[in-house]
Amino acid sequence: MDQLYIIKRNGKREPFSAEKIKNAIAKAFLSVNSFATQEVLINVMSRLKIHDGISVEEIQNQVEVSLMAERYYEVAKAYILYRQRHYEDREVKEKLDFLINYCNASNAATGSKYDANANVEKKNIATLIGELPKSNFIRLNRRMLCDKIKDLYGKELSDKYLYLLNHHFIYKNDETSIANYCASITMYPWLLDGTRSIGGNASAPTNLKSYCGGFINMVFMVSSMLSGACATPEFLMYMDYFIRKEYGDNYYQESDKIVDLSLKQRSIDKVITDCFQQVVYSINQPTGARNFQSVFWNVAYYDRYYFESLFGEFRFPDGTRPIWESLSWLQKRFMRWFNEERLRAVLTFPVETMALLSKDGDIIDTEYADFTAEMYAAGHSFFTYVSDNADSLSSCCRLRNEIQDNGFSYTLGAGGVSTGSKSVLTININRCIQYECRNNIPQYQFIGEVIDLMHKVQIAYNENLKYLQSKGMLPLFDAGYIAINRQYLTIGVNGLVEAAEFLNIPIDDNPLYQKFVEDILGLVEKYNHQYRSKELLFNCEMIPAENVGVKHAKWDREDGYRVPRDCYNSYFYRVEDESLNLLDKFRLHGIRYIAHLTGGSALHANLEEHLSQAQYRQLLRVAAQEGCNYFTFNIPNTVCNDCGHIDKRYLHECPECHSTNLDYLTRVIGYMKRVSSFSQARQEEASRRYYGKM
Ligand SMILES: [Zn+2]
Repeated sequence: MDQLYIIKRNGKREPFSAEKIKNAIAKAFLSVNSFATQEVLINVMSRLKIHDGISVEEIQNQVEVSLMAERYYEVAKAYILYRQRHYEDREVKEKLDFLINYCNASNAATGSKYDANANVEKKNIATLIGELPKSNFIRLNRRMLCDKIKDLYGKELSDKYLYLLNHHFIYKNDETSIANYCASITMYPWLLDGTRSIGGNASAPTNLKSYCGGFINMVFMVSSMLSGACATPEFLMYMDYFIRKEYGDNYYQESDKIVDLSLKQRSIDKVITDCFQQVVYSINQPTGARNFQSVFWNVAYYDRYYFESLFGEFRFPDGTRPIWESLSWLQKRFMRWFNEERLRAVLTFPVETMALLSKDGDIIDTEYADFTAEMYAAGHSFFTYVSDNADSLSSCCRLRNEIQDNGFSYTLGAGGVSTGSKSVLTININRCIQYECRNNIPQYQFIGEVIDLMHKVQIAYNENLKYLQSKGMLPLFDAGYIAINRQYLTIGVNGLVEAAEFLNIPIDDNPLYQKFVEDILGLVEKYNHQYRSKELLFNCEMIPAENVGVKHAKWDREDGYRVPRDCYNSYFYRVEDESLNLLDKFRLHGIRYIAHLTGGSALHANLEEHLSQAQYRQLLRVAAQEGCNYFTFNIPNTVCNDCGHIDKRYLHECPECHSTNLDYLTRVIGYMKRVSSFSQARQEEASRRYYGKM
C-alpha cells in the first residue's frame, strides 16, 4: 500500500497513508463516546478498495459505506457530520483567500473574480461586500434554471446545458445577480403616482425641484431591481414640461432672464444647468444599494422625426402635449453642458444616444445632423443611432428595438420607450466552429443544436421570471415601468471574428466573410423566429463582452483551441488592424453585416485625434449609406494625475503642468472609464487598440 498515491483536493499527488484513515475513523468512534479497537479498525479498513490515483473524496465515501456495512451507524453519522464540517471550513477558507487576493489586487475590476464589468472605480469594504456572495449567486441561479429546464424539457437537456456551460461553448451573462438584466423604462407611472407603486414613499413630482430630486431617487430604486442598465428616454422631455410649467412655454427664448431673486440672481439658464448638475452628479455617485457601483444610466436625444414617432400621441397628466421647440433647445443645452462639465470631472453617466432618421443616404433632419457633427467635433463622446425606419429605436445602450407599439396609453405612457433585455445567454462561436472541425461534424450542425438549446434555456429563465412576478417580486413590471412581454431574451454572440480567422477567411469586406457572418447570425435569427410567441421575444446581439471576451480567450487557449488574441472582439473587424480605414469599419458594421443583429452591435471608431464638424457630418452620410446604425467615436481623453487637468485630446504630456503621469478616459465597452480602472486583461487589450487617423 505504501507504493500507492492518492489525489488530494488541490489536485496534488501524495503517498497513500493508512494511518491517516485509521486516525479519522478512531476520532469518529471517540466523538460518539466509543472506542475502536485494532480489530474493529482492521474490519472497517479491509472493506476499502484503494487503487493508485484514488481521490480523497472517494476514500471518504468508501469509509462511510464501510462503517455502515459493519453496522456502526452512530459512528457513520458522526463521520459524515465531520466531513460536512470540513467542507464548510474549506468553503470559508476559500472566501478568506478571495478576500485577501481582492485586497491585494491592483484595482476593483482585477480583484473581481466573477464579474469584472461592475462599474466600480475604487475598491473598498463596500465593493468587497458586493463581491463575496457572487459565487453563491452563481450556484443559486444555476440551480433555479436547471430545475426549471428539467421541469420543461427533462434532465437530459438540463445536463447538456451544464455541459455546454462548463465547457465554455456558452456563457450565461450576469449570473452573479438574481435580477433581470436591463430596461428602458417609461416614467409615466411615476408621473402619475410617484414611487409608491414600486415600494417607495415619494408622491408624484409637481414642480421642477421635485422632478429632479424625485428622478434621482426613482432611478436608484429602479436600478436596484435590475442587474444592468436603466435607460430613461423621457428624462429631458419630462424636464422640459416642468420647466415650462415654472417659467412658461417660451422659457428657452428668454433664458438670460433673472428668475431667482436671492443674492445669487440666477437666470433661467442657470436654474436649468443647476438641475443638470444635481441629477448628473448624484447619479454618478457610488451607491450603497448597488455595492458602491453607480447606476448605469442611459438617456436618448431625438431628432424631430423620432420625436414625432415616439411622442406624437403623448399627453401629460394635465392633458397637454410635449412641445418640440423647447425640448429641442433643452436637448442641445444638456448635451453642451455635459460636454463642458466633463472637463471638470470624470463623469461616466449618462451614456447618451442621439437617434437620427435617415432617407436616401443622408439624415433627414439636417439641423440635428449638423448639431450631432458639431458635438463630435467639440470633443463630446456619445453614441449615434441612425435608422431609415422611425419604428426602430435604440433606447438602451445595447439594444435595437423594433417598436411594436408606438401608441400612447393613459396608464402606461409612450409604448415605444419601454423595452430592454431580460436575460443574455452568449454563444462562443470560435470554440463551436473549432469543435465541429475537430470532431468532423458537418459545419453549423453542432452550432444549430447549441442555439436551439439556448432558446429553451431562455424560455426556462422566462418561466422563473414569471414565477417571481406572480409572487409580487417584480414591481417594475407590475407598476408598468417595463412590460414583461416587451422585454427581449437575448442570444449573445462572441468570438465571431476569431472563428472566421480560424477558417482562414480574411477579415475585411469580402463575399466570403459576409457569407460567414450571414450564415452564423442568420442561424440565430432562424431560431429566434421559430421560438417567438406572444409572450416571448428573442433578439441577437454582438455583446460588448467586456469581461466574457477575456474569459473565452483564456479558456479556449487552455483547451488547445486556436486563439488569435487575449480578448475576443466585439466588432466585425480586428480591433488592432491597422490596414482598415474608418470607411472600411463603417462598411463592416453596415447593413450587409448587421442585418440579423436585432439586438444590436456598436461600431467604436477609435481615432487618435478629433475630426472637423464637416468630416463628422460626412461620416453621418457614410453611416446612412452603409446602413451602419449604431456607432461612436473614441478619442481617448487625457487626465493629468498630477494637476487634475482633463483634456478632450489624446495627449502624451499635460498641457498645464507638463507632467507625463497621465491617465486616459476611454470606453471600456459602452461607457467612459479611466483606463487604470479597467481590469488587468482589459488594460492590456486597450493598449493594443489601434487609434486611426482620417
Ligand atoms: Zn497636469
